[in-house]
Amino acid sequence: LNRLVILGAGHAGFALAAAMRQAGYGGSVTLVGDEPGLPYNRPPLSKAYLGGTDHEETLHFRPARFFEENRITLLAPERALRIDREAFKVELASGRSLPYDNLVLALGARNRSLAIPGSELTGIFSLRSAPDAAGLRAALAGARSAAVIGAGFVGLEFAATAAARGLAVTVLDAAPRAMSRVVSPETAAAIQRCHESLGTRFVFNAQITGFKARDGTASPGDRVNAVRLADDTAVQADLVLVGIGAAPNGELAEACGLEVSNGIVVDNGYRTRDPAISAIGDCAHGPTTHGHARSHRLESVQNANDSARRLAQILTTGACDAGDPIPWFWSDQGKMKLQIAGLGGPNDATVTTGSNADHMTMRFRGGRLICVETINRAGDHMAARRLIASGIGPSLAEAQAGACDLKAALK
Ligand code: FAD
Repeated sequence: LNRLVILGAGHAGFALAAAMRQAGYGGSVTLVGDEPGLPYNRPPLSKAYLGGTDHEETLHFRPARFFEENRITLLAPERALRIDREAFKVELASGRSLPYDNLVLALGARNRSLAIPGSELTGIFSLRSAPDAAGLRAALAGARSAAVIGAGFVGLEFAATAAARGLAVTVLDAAPRAMSRVVSPETAAAIQRCHESLGTRFVFNAQITGFKARDGTASPGDRVNAVRLADDTAVQADLVLVGIGAAPNGELAEACGLEVSNGIVVDNGYRTRDPAISAIGDCAHGPTTHGHARSHRLESVQNANDSARRLAQILTTGACDAGDPIPWFWSDQGKMKLQIAGLGGPNDATVTTGSNADHMTMRFRGGRLICVETINRAGDHMAARRLIASGIGPSLAEAQAGACDLKAALK
């Protein structure tokens, strides 16, 4: 293994390049990214960066000299167009061809878009990249009302920022409640109430049929003025954020004959069916012992970091730590810090304690603690990660009987 090529210079790609050097790897490392500039951190894009005045440089993981000192060749902006598995080469948009011994796909995901009338109007945003955040930040400054399509992590983080700026905010979702794919109904209700206390309005089971401009038309270039719903009502908004989830970037893998099914399919060592090619981060779909499915694809910093760190161990030593890291997530929504340890499922039993802004829901399967959702309870979140990893409870019966002090349960 002398030539490592990593496609995608986002969270997972950068973390892998750094971890390879930390593990003492002496071969060449080439990181290919289609975004301009240095690799950067996405979570602040919908949080502090969006609400603040920081310059883009504050988002960078490391300054340029880190790449020189660690002999990491960053090719950016540069797009990978094709993988030639027989020749062990990647063709790049610049016309260059990059040979590899090991190839890692860290291609991430891209936002889903809404293909409905009026989508081309100005003032309709999506949030994934630093330029997206800069555009949205500028638009926020001049807006008085905002509609958020999708009550997921990114949509609600934006909603909290917009409400704090004094905008009239309406959150619309096709589901019957907020964060329906990621948290329990109990936690979703607590989050919703916290947003409502900031003046935000929710419309659930919303069927959005289009966007319109002030004069009722929807010609490209006009500015959005309202979101139109199937029941013929309209939600006024001079700014719209569409946050309806993301789809994995699997096309390069598919085109070279690798298996892709909601992500690039890998084994528990992050390997595709070609032993020279691995995949990590948001674009990878692999086996798991957590949650209710046997395999999954996660979109989180924890997953990007853990998969990068473990793959670096595998590539440098042939093996990695035993076990399957506990998935965990966080989301900052105004004064609320939502944290999730573990993965819940639709039929979990739950036990809830606390109030809206100081909340905990424990989720159980077969009587065992599998997931803990907290709002503004960082200590319980950290304890939950350890309790779930070690499988030492509390059990459903104990929690129902009032044993909800997770820090005490660790002792
Ligand atoms: P990415 O970081 O998306 O990197 C993939 C890179 O590959 C991108 O730069 C992409 O442009 C590039 N690429 C794609 N195709 C090609 C190609 N053909 N050639 C070259 N380059 C290519 N997670 C959390 O855990 N907590 C949070 O609070 C949180 N907040 C978020 C807020 C926002 C606004 C967003 C967008 C994401 C957030 N996430 C959060 C998710 C987290 O950022 C991702 O899970 C993480 O970035 C995944 O890392 P990745 O390397 O797999 O993908």
